[in-house]
Amino acid sequence: EFQAAKKYVDDVYEIVKKRNPGESEFHQAVQEIFESLTPVFAKNPKYIQHNILERMVEPERIISFRVPWVDDNGNVRVNRGYRVQFSSAIGPYKGGLRFHPSVSASIIKFLGFEQIFKNSLTGQPIGGGKGGSDFDPKGKSDNEVMRFTQSFMTELYRHIGPDIDVPAGDIGVGAREIGYMFGQYKRLRGGYEAGVLTGKGIQYGGSLARTEATGFGTVYFVDEMLQDKGQTFDGRTVVVSGSGNVSIYAIEKATQLGAKVVACSDSNGYIYDENGIDVATVKQLKEVERKRISEYVNVHPTAQYVEGCSSIWSIPCDIALPCATQNEINAEAAQMLVNNGVKAIGEGANMPSTLEAIEIFLKNDVLFGPAKAANAGGVAVSALEMAQNSSRVPWTFEEVDAKLHNIMKNIFKNSKEAAAEFGHEGNLVVGANIAGFVKVADAMISQGV
Ligand code: GLU
Repeated sequence: EFQAAKKYVDDVYEIVKKRNPGESEFHQAVQEIFESLTPVFAKNPKYIQHNILERMVEPERIISFRVPWVDDNGNVRVNRGYRVQFSSAIGPYKGGLRFHPSVSASIIKFLGFEQIFKNSLTGQPIGGGKGGSDFDPKGKSDNEVMRFTQSFMTELYRHIGPDIDVPAGDIGVGAREIGYMFGQYKRLRGGYEAGVLTGKGIQYGGSLARTEATGFGTVYFVDEMLQDKGQTFDGRTVVVSGSGNVSIYAIEKATQLGAKVVACSDSNGYIYDENGIDVATVKQLKEVERKRISEYVNVHPTAQYVEGCSSIWSIPCDIALPCATQNEINAEAAQMLVNNGVKAIGEGANMPSTLEAIEIFLKNDVLFGPAKAANAGGVAVSALEMAQNSSRVPWTFEEVDAKLHNIMKNIFKNSKEAAAEFGHEGNLVVGANIAGFVKVADAMISQGV
């Protein structure tokens, strides 16, 4: 059975490469899932009979569109917008929008594909999708961002809706952008459909604790991995990459649990503060003033700034939380972390470790919390925001945070059990992929071809 399963998986992987030429990030995400799933197909040939894999790797729909806008000097500019509606097997398409110059079909597809399994893992009724644009928000004025996002929504609005597809934020898309997009959607639709976007401001239908959810959730997940081994965050040294929404709240929660976070970064470089990063300063610099992380040393002169962001992984730490972007930890960085005695990794970003890096962590018995599980808290609370919008009843911060904590505990438990059931005890990469897959695959079989 194992050979038949292996052949099926290999055949579909060839199809993926042929249908999506040159899309290396998408291939990488597919390869990781496929390796994990071979034991499932060996045990349950029904998934092969229904050709579930080939159906899953082909998005239900890909939308790509022109986004014209006028900059502050009166020049007409053009960017490309995307929305990949990957899977609606268990709920409306759900996933963020990323505005970053690196955005391509490959990046959006890898993110959308991962989102299917991540969203399934949360236990919430949400399908998988992702979107974005190669627009670079860096250095743009507030008015330019508003005009761009309005133009982006002028095309996107016809493809989305509270029961169809519910976008949210990702890199480059935060509360400000969601607000402008919501305003434009409302104007075009001619009605107040609060549940069409999540990550909204709390004044107009957002959920308390959504801002904190991804970072808090990553720390809750790592805390579960540690507690499972009789350990805690207390007294641990932590390195967090990035300084955006995920990083900020990961730093805050890890610090609350007694850890000392000594470093964080942006795309230019990193800061090292042996007294522990002051998260209020990072919030002020990055969220309010929209400045570079290098400015931190002006406020805290004993801290150091180091140019270049990848060398952050040379800092000795017990726990590393990559919360910046895909493939930020390669084999070399992983080996450096292992040599310096790292005990646990929690992926706050999407696919921050390369396949080689993951292999190094697992081989060296580092506790490894894969992105689909460890960063699912953000989208989980997005689903809770949708629930509050549907019922028109907002919940308290404490209620949402307690639900988030519980969801992260369940993701850990389900991933751990799935790994054990299929002979990969302790491997949460395999466990998360299997637990996420089974629910979606069974829903697809129930709904017919
Ligand atoms: N972009 C986030 C993620 O990768 C959040 C998506 C959402 O809330 O829909 O999960």
